[in-house]
Amino acid sequence: MMKNVISAVCIKCGAEHEAIPTITTCPKCGGILDIKYDYHYIRKNLTKEKLADRKDASMWRYMEFLPVSGESKVRKLRVGMSPFYEVPRLAEMLGIRRLYVKDDGINPTASLKDRASAMAVVKAEEAGVSTIACSSTGNAASSLAGNAAAAGFETYIFVPERAPKGKVAQLMMFGANVISVRGSYEDTFELSKEAIERWGWYNRNAAINPYLMEGKKTVALEIAEQLNWEMPDYIAISVGDGCTIGGLWKGLKDLYAAGFIDRLPRIISVQAEGCCPLNRSIQEGKDWYPMEENTLADSIAVGVPRNPDKALNAIRESDGIPVNVSDEEILSAMKTLGSAGIFAEPAGAAGTAGLKKAVGLGLIPADASVVSVVTGSGLKDVANAMKAAGEPISIEPDMALLLEAFRNKGLK
Ligand SMILES: *Cc1c(COP(=O)(O)O)cnc(C)c1O
Ligand SMILES: [Zn+2]
Repeated sequence: MMKNVISAVCIKCGAEHEAIPTITTCPKCGGILDIKYDYHYIRKNLTKEKLADRKDASMWRYMEFLPVSGESKVRKLRVGMSPFYEVPRLAEMLGIRRLYVKDDGINPTASLKDRASAMAVVKAEEAGVSTIACSSTGNAASSLAGNAAAAGFETYIFVPERAPKGKVAQLMMFGANVISVRGSYEDTFELSKEAIERWGWYNRNAAINPYLMEGKKTVALEIAEQLNWEMPDYIAISVGDGCTIGGLWKGLKDLYAAGFIDRLPRIISVQAEGCCPLNRSIQEGKDWYPMEENTLADSIAVGVPRNPDKALNAIRESDGIPVNVSDEEILSAMKTLGSAGIFAEPAGAAGTAGLKKAVGLGLIPADASVVSVVTGSGLKDVANAMKAAGEPISIEPDMALLLEAFRNKGLK
């Protein structure tokens, strides 16, 4: 029994359902579900002081805010409590008062998706299922494979053929059954859906499973705690399917409702120019419609987002700012982060690229405080990292040649 959870509420028809581990979409209308908490219970059982004394340096330190029964034992990898840095030099470069980076590339499988996958594994265990499946642009897959491997579960993973090698290598290393689909993410998702129905595997697909966002929301809880509960003016994050921004917003709202923070930041929703169906919907004031997947930021190349409603709600409710960035702007932001010792994959740097652009466009005042979330590590996609950073000096082992190369580069 989860004492802190009231129900799973449909965001479309409002029907409330018992939050059993296997629940996916609304049994009544097919809508996406949201986990509803008893904030009185949370307030009574958790305080900021109590949290400060907790030794658990992982996302599970926020147990009272999470939809798990507490009896589960499958928490093998240390997910969450990722580094949080103030980066004054970057703030100055970008022209804002205060900038923090939350580096979620520092997670066991090197992306924010570990938060959702760790949750999926716990829920699969509660459901008594031993096989978990998903389709993914890459990181949901590698994080599921890693977290499932640690807990001894079997996985079936569907990825589009274009997934970067680093991510596919992770899948193979973690012992997943990998199906590389010659098609788009959309095609991949549909095939996985059919297979999951056919074989009854536990479903870790984005949006379909309401618990995943509850895992992802822990990034907001950590930001709040790491800022000593003083919220920034803005949080910048990259958006693909929409679960991450939805989770971020859910975490902030849960904290607010439970009295842990007294104001809500505005969210800067960043998509790639070549694939921005959700931001475009806000910008045009129209319903979203599919778009081509035309960006090198593979993790947010999602032409048919699976969680549009929660993502759009997050932008609207937070009085958010939609920003679309070009591939060049993403590569440039990768270098900006790199200059502060932070290595991001393209989608991981997109939030920072969007922030940079929003400041340039005057959408954000110079006295703002901002948190930029880096959602994945650059080591997953070294091809694009090299594109952003360039090639090293390459010479024969000869001092004369070194001197010449230095002269040419203006070094030394
Ligand atoms: C998945 C992912 C995102 C976007 O999350 P969505 O839930 O698809 O919106 C952003 N960055 C990285 C690195 C990701 O893996
Ligand atoms: Zn419904």
